[in-house]
Amino acid sequence: MDHIEYERHLNQAQLEAVQTLQGPVLVIAGAGSGKTRTVVYRLARLVENSVPPESILLLTFTRKAANEMLTRAAHLAGQGLHGVAGGTFHAFAFGMLRRFGQRLGYDQGVSIMDRSDAEGVVKQVREMEGVGKGDRSFPRKGAVLSLMSKARNKERDLEDILASEAGHLLPHAEGIQIIQRGYEAFKAKHGLLDYDDLLFKFETLLREHEDIRDFLVQRYSHLMIDEFQDTNLVQGRLVRLLSGPEANVMAVGDDAQSVYAFRGATVNNILQFTSDFPGTKVIKLEQNYRSTQPILELTNQILGQATAKYEKHLFSERIEGPKPQVVRPLSDMTQAQGVVDKIVELSRTTPLHDIAVLFRAGYQSYPLEVALNKLGIGYQKFGGMRFAESAHIKDFVAHLRLVANPADLPAWQRALSLLPGIGPKTCERIYEATLHGDEAYMRRTCKRVPELENTLTLLDNLRNSRLGVAPVIEQLLDYYRPHMEERYPDDYPKRQAGLEELAQIAAGYTKLEDFLADMSLDNPDPGSGHGVEEDKVVLSTIHSAKGLEWSAVLLIDLVEDRFPSRHALSRPDDMEEERRLMYVACTRARDFLGLYVPDTVYKRNQGSTPVLPSPFVQELPSSTYEEWREGYAGGFRRQQEPAPKPAAQRSVQDDAPVNSASTSQAQPSNGYCRHKIFGRGKILSFIPPNKYKVNFSGFGIKT
Ligand code: ATP
Ligand code: MG
Repeated sequence: MDHIEYERHLNQAQLEAVQTLQGPVLVIAGAGSGKTRTVVYRLARLVENSVPPESILLLTFTRKAANEMLTRAAHLAGQGLHGVAGGTFHAFAFGMLRRFGQRLGYDQGVSIMDRSDAEGVVKQVREMEGVGKGDRSFPRKGAVLSLMSKARNKERDLEDILASEAGHLLPHAEGIQIIQRGYEAFKAKHGLLDYDDLLFKFETLLREHEDIRDFLVQRYSHLMIDEFQDTNLVQGRLVRLLSGPEANVMAVGDDAQSVYAFRGATVNNILQFTSDFPGTKVIKLEQNYRSTQPILELTNQILGQATAKYEKHLFSERIEGPKPQVVRPLSDMTQAQGVVDKIVELSRTTPLHDIAVLFRAGYQSYPLEVALNKLGIGYQKFGGMRFAESAHIKDFVAHLRLVANPADLPAWQRALSLLPGIGPKTCERIYEATLHGDEAYMRRTCKRVPELENTLTLLDNLRNSRLGVAPVIEQLLDYYRPHMEERYPDDYPKRQAGLEELAQIAAGYTKLEDFLADMSLDNPDPGSGHGVEEDKVVLSTIHSAKGLEWSAVLLIDLVEDRFPSRHALSRPDDMEEERRLMYVACTRARDFLGLYVPDTVYKRNQGSTPVLPSPFVQELPSSTYEEWREGYAGGFRRQQEPAPKPAAQRSVQDDAPVNSASTSQAQPSNGYCRHKIFGRGKILSFIPPNKYKVNFSGFGIKT
């Protein structure tokens, strides 16, 4: 391993953490302050000091974070770090259970169930026990599974979880509990583990088999955990169990970035660390190396308004840099175009892979994905499914393809698979029959499957109707919705949102063929094939972006209902978590941050609907950003630039006092005031004894 000049690459506090090779260490610090870097350099330092790489265990919460850490370490130390054990808690637990499973009675090895297996078991148990028979208000299998998982991860009674998070399901508490018991019994009988079990069984293994625990404690002499704020109770206990009497354990985290409480993560693991491990060296990092000072000023504001006080005020030595932009497109559709234009502009100086667009939920990037496809700009998406890959979008688009082209066999297969009693063989015959006008066969089949007739008539009518793209889609949506509800009952609402996006995107087209071409569902991804990840812009949910950074970050859909999400509004704890999520998103940016706040978004049955900006944007002091607005003729213009004023107002100086003699001109009320000339303005501050600083839209700040 090459010699590393630690002093050159680390500040004093980081150096202290890196040079503390024994005993417990807790690094608690804000975003971008070099926590992960500290873990990585400490890893190198340990190896330099003759700790064998294979006795170091690196754990974190998500696979992406784990990879990031290991890649950085490999980069730093070349080949010298081979053998370091690292990954997510779940992956590590699974490995150990495979190895020692027979001690827990898993003689045939351990089988894990994925999510859909687990849902299948829930369904089976529900039927077997006859729970909620014919009761449509009974939660669906996916919802039942999520509730059970939440109860386990939070280690609370199911009833308790229902009471606090899903009160409307309390009448079903007994039924859900019956399913819960049946589910556990089923797993035990068949030797199956679900995802949550991995951690709990691993804990059991360590608790009940002291020899195994001793073996692992010796084997992994040094333990390091990144993103510690997102560990849950059982993960916290695993850390204690694995860390033996010497407690060579380092945890790094940021309480302000805890965004997995909904899955049972608890910041208490950080708060308790010092009492769990007496003699812990606590290290705080305050300098941010990631972002420019203008970006930090905005992110500090986000935390500053949190209910919980995070004792952090990060500063950066990167004083220079553009102010973050708050961009106001006219709609969520023009937002997509605006973002693509911005990406093109940024890409003149920044490689595409160093630009990321972030969003709260996976479907929010759909319009953007289509716009990128259209320009042939490749993208990679983290978290959430790519638009064109989601099953329901494929289902739906298959119908559109049949309207455009009745000779599209794969589209027939996809569309007809929604109907009961039509398998691949029948489908092929129907296809042949429609092509060759074999009416006798069609009549027979329609008689057997009455729904088929509806489908064929609808498609025929639409094909012959010469209707525009939008009405065709509307009619098909009405047809498809019940099918979708039946096929994907559990995440129906989420998928519904995806379809609405699709309808809205399509509304911008006059020819169906053009729209289908831009969706280019079967085309290989334009950026792929050459293996150049470099050429792709990143689209990511915020949850999947944790721990990562990009030169430019564009955050979209910052409007009420979308971010924070609707159901968070009424729950203070959830609002706090959404705020931390907003903090995580904005702190990913190194050089440029763009916050997109469309004026209108598309809503089902309402069409384009005006929406308010997200409270997280509304509360930002206007000094922390530049505002850009889309004009009705297209194009974005910076706001508050000294706008040309009518001649009669020229005599008013920009900083002209609105003094007591003219209080009749500026009447304050509710944080806003009205001025005879400047119109409505927001009061920024009161300057005693009798002045106000006011931000007038279109005229800027005046005293
Ligand atoms: P997050 O909370 O988002 O996970 P973090 O605290 O883990 O952030 P890092 O990702 O380790 O922060 O560091 C942020 C950026 O700052 C990285 O690009 C890293 O290389 C750089 N950096 C960290 N420490 C230093 C330092 N002492 N000198 C120069 N650059 C540094
Ligand atoms: Mg990190």
